[in-house]
Amino acid sequence: MGTIKWFLSTLLICSNVSAKGPDVHIALDQDYYASAEYPLVELKYTNNTKRPIEIPEKLMPSEEFWNDAFIVKVGDKRSKYIGMLFAYNSPGKLYRLESGESVSYEIDLNKLYDLREDGNYSIQACVILDRKSFKSNIVEVFIEGRDNVEEVQEVKDVVVSTMRTYGCSRTELAALKLAFPKAIKLAANAYDILEAVDTGGNIAYKKPKPPKPPKPPKPPKPPKPPKPGETPKSYQTWFCKDSKKSQLLNYVRENFQTIDQAFSTKLVKFYCGCSNAVAFVFPHKAYQIYVCDDFFDLPMNGMDSQAGVIVHEMSHFYATAGTNDYAYGQKAAQALVKRRPEMAVRNADNYMYFSSDN
Ligand SMILES: [Zn+2]
Repeated sequence: MGTIKWFLSTLLICSNVSAKGPDVHIALDQDYYASAEYPLVELKYTNNTKRPIEIPEKLMPSEEFWNDAFIVKVGDKRSKYIGMLFAYNSPGKLYRLESGESVSYEIDLNKLYDLREDGNYSIQACVILDRKSFKSNIVEVFIEGRDNVEEVQEVKDVVVSTMRTYGCSRTELAALKLAFPKAIKLAANAYDILEAVDTGGNIAYKKPKPPKPPKPPKPPKPPKPPKPGETPKSYQTWFCKDSKKSQLLNYVRENFQTIDQAFSTKLVKFYCGCSNAVAFVFPHKAYQIYVCDDFFDLPMNGMDSQAGVIVHEMSHFYATAGTNDYAYGQKAAQALVKRRPEMAVRNADNYMYFSSDN
């Protein structure tokens, strides 16, 4: 799996698009940070265009900035994002950056990236707005390693799919008891469907059993196996229209395999009690899912269900698929498939919608 992920991540790094949008600039106040010091990055957006630019508030520089919007490298190695990844059910408020206006905030890199290694770091912001990416200057800095990543606690292996809940009310617990098994089924079914696709030799399509010699006059028609390389319609809708891109298919299939395995062999912990969100996780804290008040307003079934959100969150962990949130909602997820399928296969909502569409 490592090789495919590496291949994809190099494709995914911020593309150079000369689009009209904010100028993004970063600055650090030191070029050396001792292990007890916080590397605060000033992230600044300036609107040098003649028109106002609308930016989702969650992408605006602020204390509440939780986005994997920096490329942080120590040597050639990319530091992992360790901040919150959310599930939204609405696009959120927009900030109107007027022509000529600048907004900046000092963001603590310590809470967003794994900085455990001593070394020369290069830092660049890459802000994705309206599916276009806006890159900043690159800043180089020496950072002494620090223990800013809580080691992932050992996750118990379980015999049957098991969840544990923390701080949940009785009604919340009742909802989770219904939604969790549904999520497991969505993921298992998604994997089964992908597993059955022939990718031109490396994974064979399981042929249906030949019909028994017919006794009645009408012999049953054997089900048609898909043509080699043909992917299911739901896969084409939510991941990639081009069946020949078997690398993407293999990538998604491996990811659903790990998600499916995690659901059936790991203890999944749900934490209730947060508000102003649907759900979130920290991608390095495997199988811990925070479900907030809005989660419990979602329907049990359909494309944006509680079970779907659980699949979305499960796909975020580095221990499973390590997905990101490049686009939220059905429209944006489908637009990603058309424009950047290599990003669609890394986007959590696409996993949710694919698994809910079979
Ligand atoms: Zn998410």
